[in-house]
Amino acid sequence: MEFEWTADQLRLRRGAVEFARARLVEGVAGRDREGTFSREAWQACAEFGLQGLLVPAEWNGGGQDLLSAVAVFEGLGYGARDNGLVFSVAAHAASCEGPLCAFGSEAQKREWLPGLAEGSVIGATAITEPDSGSSALSLATTAVPHDDGWRLQGSKTFVTNGPVADLFIIYARTGPGVGGVTAFLVPRHTSGLVVGAPIEKMGLRTSPMSQVFLEDCWVPASAVVGGVGSGALIFSQVMEAERLLVMAPAIGVMQRLLERCVAHARQRKVGSVPIGKHQAIAHRLADMDVQLEAARLLLYRAAWQRARHGTATRESAMAKLAVSEAYVETCRSAVQIFGTYGYTVEYELERELRDALAATLYVGTSEIQRNLIAGLRGLG
Ligand SMILES: Cc1cc2nc3c(=O)[nH]c(=O)nc-3n(C[C@H](O)[C@H](O)[C@H](O)COP(=O)(O)OP(=O)(O)OC[C@H]3O[C@@H](n4cnc5c(N)ncnc54)[C@H](O)[C@@H]3O)c2cc1C
Repeated sequence: MEFEWTADQLRLRRGAVEFARARLVEGVAGRDREGTFSREAWQACAEFGLQGLLVPAEWNGGGQDLLSAVAVFEGLGYGARDNGLVFSVAAHAASCEGPLCAFGSEAQKREWLPGLAEGSVIGATAITEPDSGSSALSLATTAVPHDDGWRLQGSKTFVTNGPVADLFIIYARTGPGVGGVTAFLVPRHTSGLVVGAPIEKMGLRTSPMSQVFLEDCWVPASAVVGGVGSGALIFSQVMEAERLLVMAPAIGVMQRLLERCVAHARQRKVGSVPIGKHQAIAHRLADMDVQLEAARLLLYRAAWQRARHGTATRESAMAKLAVSEAYVETCRSAVQIFGTYGYTVEYELERELRDALAATLYVGTSEIQRNLIAGLRGLG
């Protein structure tokens, strides 16, 4: 067993921390308040190579594997304050570039991957529907053969990057059952694709979200990703990697908050006693430390397995569950340790908590991860 990062991975992680401190800190409070996405910050991420990190070099990407990408995204979480923008970049990379890299045709890759890697094309994925949610493949959106192509009809919701996306991967029903789901590549300006108004959220407010409507939206046969009926396979493969990539920044955020809380517990005196001298506070910090390390190891292990062996279903579900729940708990503890200062906007911990709360919902809720883990034991 080996627990060392390579020198290259450490260099990548350090670079990500420095980049994030320089480019993803300023102005976040205002953008969070207004609920605005920063194209400038998006472009800075692209120039740094984040959007293209997992894209093969032949398509202008960085050609990194998932474990190295986890190191980079952890570094971003540690250095940045703009959790929403980091989430948008991770969603773009995992759920739009991911299926294209793994299942796209040569022509699809040639047309879209360079732009996605360079950040000039913003990607989104639309699977969730108003009545499907956790039962992700219970789709009502249909795709019917029409004029050498397909006509899509239906509506999608909670689409990250929707308001700014140039390219959507849309999952629709082409037949009955699990084998009747197909993924389609739909550019924004396709006639019949209508992007709804931005959806306002509690947290991750710098990551835009919207509904997407498909009103007799015709796409050519070449828009199918990976073959008709392979949507369920694509979705499960993509989700595995996405769970790990979107949770990696949380490890960095937890590390940063733990360090901040330890410093505060040493320095903050109530009466003449530093609050860290109280066992209640010291134990809470010890628990934060243990939760962080446990979550970190599950995440690294799952990413290692996926990078090495190509699949990590159980491990990625466990990592997603553990990291997201530890993330929420860490942010809650940080507010508690800072007392009412932690509850004020000025200390920027309430924003961390608001951002963290989404983590037990996206890419499969905690309940769905537990169902998956129990299901693999033959339960439920
Ligand atoms: C920040 C954010 C970004 C997102 N981005 C995208 C995106 O880019 N594209 C996209 O398509 N979707 C996206 N989503 C949507 C997300 O994937 C869904 O919201 C999620 O799958 C849950 O669906 P739901 O909200 O309809 O909840 P529901 O399915 O209605 O669930 C409600 C509650 O019931 C529980 N529940 C439901 N079914 C079961 C069950 N079988 N067993 C036990 N408990 C159950 C859930 O765990 C939850 O607690 C995003 C969500 C968030 C929060």
